[in-house]
Amino acid sequence: MTMKTVVALPGEGIGPEVVDATCELLMGTGLPLKILTPPQGSPLPAETKRAAREADGVLFGAAGPSTTMVVAWLRWEMSAWAGVRPIRFYSGMRSPLADPEGIDYVLLRENSEGIYPGREGDLADLVKVMPDLAEKTGRKVKDFGNEGRFAVKVVTPRGAERIARFACDLARKRRARGKPGKVTCVTKSNVLPRTDGLYHQTVERIVREAGLQFEHFHVDDAARRLVRFPTSMDVVLCMNLYGDILSDLGAETAGGLGLAPSANFGDGWAYFESVHGSAPDIAGKGISNPTATILSSALMLEHMGLGAEAQRLQDAVARVYRDGKVLTPDQGGTARTREMAQAVLAAYR
Ligand code: NAD
Repeated sequence: MTMKTVVALPGEGIGPEVVDATCELLMGTGLPLKILTPPQGSPLPAETKRAAREADGVLFGAAGPSTTMVVAWLRWEMSAWAGVRPIRFYSGMRSPLADPEGIDYVLLRENSEGIYPGREGDLADLVKVMPDLAEKTGRKVKDFGNEGRFAVKVVTPRGAERIARFACDLARKRRARGKPGKVTCVTKSNVLPRTDGLYHQTVERIVREAGLQFEHFHVDDAARRLVRFPTSMDVVLCMNLYGDILSDLGAETAGGLGLAPSANFGDGWAYFESVHGSAPDIAGKGISNPTATILSSALMLEHMGLGAEAQRLQDAVARVYRDGKVLTPDQGGTARTREMAQAVLAAYR
């Protein structure tokens, strides 16, 4: 096996502890990995950007108020437009559902358009250029007066098409492993027929052309279905904001926010991070759950061509949950972050 270079960017809050525990685990596996930890800083130093661009894999911890620039660079400046967020229950995880067995779907978040990253302004400026922009009810922008703010939501056919094709590829790969081959599209196209409607229609056309199963739910209905019928889901394709919200909900149905990994793909570029944030309420206590970051590193190994090792790492995580002996407090245990990661390493070996 050739040596692979990984750039680890911890972020802040619990980011450093989950990334350190995961890197120690990765080094313990004996895989040919060279892990670099270039400086973070705001703005992100040029040497760090260069190292991250050139690395075989990039593992990020969690952003907080002073490291937003890191995630902004990874996700938006590097245009990692496809956010892959697997939601999977492993026996032993502390799900709040009565019957979580079999939860195994991917929530796919369009990362680059919609209402993120914020494009906001003063209402007075909008009134100057589009005073007569009207709602269904006939109320116009100028009727709000000049006091206030606005935000802009953007949907392009190109953005909707590329994420729809990505969803189809994912559904096909999953179908090869026995899953139904279904894409569930989540929008609010009844209220936003032009923006969300464009996304909805584009995704529906591409999924049907691909010969895959298609269904669509409005985001409010989708939220309830992810709680009530999670095992009926396969690939759940969400617009940016809806995906941000529903992936936390999905993570919780599996057992908690500390468990949900993500892979973020752009054109010839990818980085990997937990779904959770910097968790200031538990930062520095050494009790954060490293699972989300460990599973993100498994997605990274797969991306680097180490598919068998990635599977072995996921199996090791599954074993630790099945045994239930070395779990962090969010899962009802007393283990510390590093101890849990080391238990995963022992199971890997
Ligand atoms: P959060 O995800 O940091 O925490 C939400 C809750 O989940 C907290 O109670 C926290 O203790 C718990 N939690 C999260 N990760 C956990 C883990 N590994 N183990 C155990 N418990 C865990 O969300 P928040 O509190 O809304 O945001 C805090 C900061 O994180 C904000 O600055 C926010 O902008 C940022 N954030 C960053 C990202 C990212 O880096 N991608 C994602 C979400 C939030």
